[in-house]
Amino acid sequence: MICAFCGHEFDEHDGKKGCGGCAGGCHSVHCPRCNYKNPLEPDVIKSIRNLFSKKDGHKGDTQ
Ligand SMILES: [Zn+2]
Ligand SMILES: [Zn+2]
Repeated sequence: MICAFCGHEFDEHDGKKGCGGCAGGCHSVHCPRCNYKNPLEPDVIKSIRNLFSKKDGHKGDTQ
């Protein structure tokens, strides 16, 4: 996933879950770089994103 705050790309499992510092319990993934609280992506959104990324097999083809 990509941090919505600083743009740092990290694995969801590398982020800090259940930090214990969030009010009402932590249901987010904290960015390992800036500690921003990124909301967890539902699996539905992940699969939709995979559908799109499969179309474009090339990586780093930015103009
Ligand atoms: Zn938290
Ligand atoms: Zn971040």
